Amino acid sequence: MNALWLENNKISLRDISQQRKPNEALIKIRKAGICSTDLELVKGYYPYTGVIGHEFVGNVIEADDASWIGQRVVGEINVVCNQCEQCLNGRSTHCEHRTVLGIVNRDGTFAEFTNLPIANLHRVPESVPDEMAVFTEPLAAALEIQDQIQIKPTDRILLIGAGRLGQLIAQTLALTGCNLRVIARHEQQQKLLKARGIKIISEEDVQPWRWDVVVEATGSPSGFSLARKAVRPRGTMVLKSTYKGDMNVNFSSIVVDEINLIGSRCGPFEPALRLMESKQVDPTVLIAEEFKLSEALKAFERAAETGVLKVLVEP
Ligand SMILES: [Zn+2]
Ligand SMILES: [Zn+2]
Repeated sequence: MNALWLENNKISLRDISQQRKPNEALIKIRKAGICSTDLELVKGYYPYTGVIGHEFVGNVIEADDASWIGQRVVGEINVVCNQCEQCLNGRSTHCEHRTVLGIVNRDGTFAEFTNLPIANLHRVPESVPDEMAVFTEPLAAALEIQDQIQIKPTDRILLIGAGRLGQLIAQTLALTGCNLRVIARHEQQQKLLKARGIKIISEEDVQPWRWDVVVEATGSPSGFSLARKAVRPRGTMVLKSTYKGDMNVNFSSIVVDEINLIGSRCGPFEPALRLMESKQVDPTVLIAEEFKLSEALKAFERAAETGVLKVLVEP
C-alpha cells in the first residue's frame, strides 16, 4: 500500500506492505488530519521512524469480531498492555508499554490502511460526516481539560493560543458557560472565534494575577510566561502543548503563589463524538484544504504555512 514514511526528519511516499496484526482490526482510511505533532515529528522533536499520522476516520475491513466489519470508526491512539501498574489503576493512556499510533513504535494513518485493537475503536454516528469525525482525537484532547478540572460558570478563564488545538479548546470551554477570553494571533483564528461568539483579548489587555484558570496551548516559552503572569494565586495552569527542549521557569513564584500546574494530553472519545453529533461543536470550520495521499508532501507544506489550521489527507 501507499504510505507516508518518516525517517531521519524526511517524509516520503513509499509502497509498504500492511497486513492485519494478530488480535487487531485492519482499517481502511477514509480521511486523516495533519496535526502539530506530525509537523514536530518531521522536525525531529521526537525520535520516530515509520508511517506517521494519528487523526483518522476509516472503515474496519478485517477483524476477529465480525460485528465490526464495515463499521465506520475513529480510534484512540494509545495501544496499551492492560497489565502494567498504570493500566491496572485506570491510567491506561500512561501505559508503561504503550505504542502510539503514528508517534511511538506503531505505523500511523497517512496510508491506505492502518491497524488498531478493537478496544481502541469507536463507532461514528451516522449524522457525523467524515470531515467532522476526523477531528475526534484532537477534540477528545481538548475535552481532557474538563475531565481533569472542575470549571465553574463563574471562573475567569484565559486560553492562550487559538491554533489547531486551541480552536477546539475554545469551542468546548465556551460550552461550560465560564467567562472565557482567548488570545488569538492570526486574523483567521480571530474570525472563527468571533463567529461563535467567543471573546478575544489582546496580550496587552491581560490583567496579571486575575485569572482562575489559564490554558496554555502555544507550546512556546513566551506562552508559558504569559500564563504564569496571568494566573491568580491558587489558580490553575493547564498545559496543553509540549515544549521543545527544557524550559527556564521560576518555580519559587509557583510555590509562593500556590499555583496548580496540570499537564494535559489525550482525552475521552465518546463525549467528543457526542458533541459533534449534537452539533454543539463544529470543527470543520478549521479545514483549510484537502489533499490526496499521493500529494501528501504538498499537504504537509500547506499545513506548515503560518495561520493554516487543519489540512486533511485522503487515500
Ligand atoms: Zn494530534
Ligand atoms: Zn500498560
